Amino acid sequence: MKTYRIAVIPGDGIGPEQMEATLKVLEALEEGMSWRLSYTFCEAGDRCAEKHGTPLPEETVKAIKSSDACLKAPVGESAADVIVKLRQMLDLYANLRPAKSYPNVPALRPDIDFLIVRENTEDLYKGFEFFVAPDVAVGLRVISRRGCERIAELAFKLSMRRRRKVTAVHKANVMRVTCGLFREVCREVASRYPEVEFEEMYVDAAAMNLIRKPQEFDVIVTTNMFGDILSDEAAQVVGSIGLAAGANIGDEHGIFEPVHGSAPDIAGKGIANPTSLILAAAMMFDWLGEREAAKLLETAIEEVLAEGKVLTPDLGGKAKTMEFAEKVAEAVRRKLEKS
Ligand code: ATP
Repeated sequence: MKTYRIAVIPGDGIGPEQMEATLKVLEALEEGMSWRLSYTFCEAGDRCAEKHGTPLPEETVKAIKSSDACLKAPVGESAADVIVKLRQMLDLYANLRPAKSYPNVPALRPDIDFLIVRENTEDLYKGFEFFVAPDVAVGLRVISRRGCERIAELAFKLSMRRRRKVTAVHKANVMRVTCGLFREVCREVASRYPEVEFEEMYVDAAAMNLIRKPQEFDVIVTTNMFGDILSDEAAQVVGSIGLAAGANIGDEHGIFEPVHGSAPDIAGKGIANPTSLILAAAMMFDWLGEREAAKLLETAIEEVLAEGKVLTPDLGGKAKTMEFAEKVAEAVRRKLEKS
């Protein structure tokens, strides 16, 4: 029987509570599948730094490298030292952030379903910043043809499984060289996908249209900083941060995690919404090629949300993290029995 090796990072704050809940759901899922999951629990984050003097120990990096995928809960203050480093070390060049309306979640509209494909390694976030005079600071924006090509290619490939529309977001009217290169490469890649509708949008217009007509987007492809900002806007457009999942993927490795932080204000109370991590696990299965499992998890969550009886406090309910997870696990089992 095939076994997937998964590196599991429980993280800080609400992270361990979300992870316990998610693994409960995955236990139910695994029962009905023709494969098994083998977990390697790894430390990373604030508690890890207190214990071992580093938020990202070598053993954790090794475990991720030798696993098929990594499921990561949020970490606290040291987030930048964990995920930003891992993105560079493992060349995780794409950040995928789906934004979808779910029942009983206050989205702007009920019909939103788009995916932001954000370049994850270049742009102003490269960190090339310095002072050129005591009071003048400069930041360099790095955009490469290879960087644009691989992110655009991924966006078009993913759109083929969706509604076949890609919107390239840039600001090439002002940043003519860097955004100009991104635009040129997106156009080249678009010409290889005649079946996909291609449009371009300036980032300011995109920020507006995400609120004005979010239902019209399918796949948005953009550079690092624009993607960072638009992704957070997108999470709000669909209503709850507790549902937002993201993937960091490269050609060889993938790390799947909630978009939000470790939520220290509610940590330890057992009331965090575990959905963001369960949906991150769904993205992980999709990436591993286990699409049926991914779909099953997503529809089980949809069912529990639609029923509206067991909801965590962020969605107006009274349920505890584990109660919600048990409900999702039950829905998973029911679906597996039917299939
Ligand atoms: P960071 O700087 O790490 O992003 P933060 O506290 O500013 O930390 P988050 O940790 O993302 O940001 O939390 C923002 C708010 O959303 C907090 O009030 C938190 O309680 C709430 N929140 C985040 N995730 C969840 C969740 N899964 N379930 C319920 N509430 C959540």
